[in-house]
Amino acid sequence: MPEGDSLVRLAHRLRSVMQDEELVVSDFRIGSLATVDLAGWNITDLVPTAKYLSMFLQAPQDCLVAHRTLVIFSHLGIDGSWQINGRITHQTRCILTLSKQIVVGSSLSTLEVLTPQQVQQRLTSLGPDLLDPDWLNPQRADQLLSTAQTNFRQRADQPIGSALLDQRLVSGIGNIYRCEVLSLTRMNPYRRVGTLTDAQLVGLIVLARDLMSANVPPRSTTHTARSTVDIRPDPQAAFGLRVANPQEKARAQADSQPTQPRRPRFWVYNRQTCLRCGTVIRRDPLGAVPGQARYVYWCPYCQAE
Ligand SMILES: [Zn+2]
Repeated sequence: MPEGDSLVRLAHRLRSVMQDEELVVSDFRIGSLATVDLAGWNITDLVPTAKYLSMFLQAPQDCLVAHRTLVIFSHLGIDGSWQINGRITHQTRCILTLSKQIVVGSSLSTLEVLTPQQVQQRLTSLGPDLLDPDWLNPQRADQLLSTAQTNFRQRADQPIGSALLDQRLVSGIGNIYRCEVLSLTRMNPYRRVGTLTDAQLVGLIVLARDLMSANVPPRSTTHTARSTVDIRPDPQAAFGLRVANPQEKARAQADSQPTQPRRPRFWVYNRQTCLRCGTVIRRDPLGAVPGQARYVYWCPYCQAE
């Protein structure tokens, strides 16, 4: 399952070849869209929302249609992709031919052509998107944070490790950031949401948002590998730490010698031992809903409580 930051990076990549381009051929390879033909339509924007991608298209001038704006709406699911000049396989669900390139969508868990209003309806069940540019507006950020907080408060009995993955509370967090944010705050994944103070809850959400923002353009290029280890102490912050700013991060990367082993990228995710204390990492099934097999990686020493 992709993290929200993968979608922001993907939209950034696709925008560079698709924005303001005309679709020469649209080829949808699923039954429900078999008769949809968007040839001649202009791609006006690509917008990631949590783990969904919306490609906005405008009808050609002379085209008589009920809706002049339509959206190719998709979700990557577990291993879906949109690739520029990608390989066409039996998993391919959509081929968009532009004047110079093709864009291939494969293994998508959702693929629909909708009106902008229908897209809005699809997205209403999602909690605040942690990578929404609205977070940059302080007034709007307060509203988003308060909505997120209210959503979490309604799940007092849910383990925090499962609530962080629940896209109805906040959206965009996938397994990597769920594990990393719990490790950084030394929080046990099974701790009930209801036992967290307001400061802890807000601190967790803000830290997850900042960790994700540090991994998307403009703070990070689409080519750098995702990493959560550039952290600085900050006595003012809820858990006494903050995410390094881009200058600090660049300095840390420059200081690591090429002869040294590669810098680790995560504290616990997909690791054998905890990067902080060396304890053997535990890996337990803990999804957003019971039965969803998503493995939480955590350190039983650092995250005892
Ligand atoms: Zn540890």
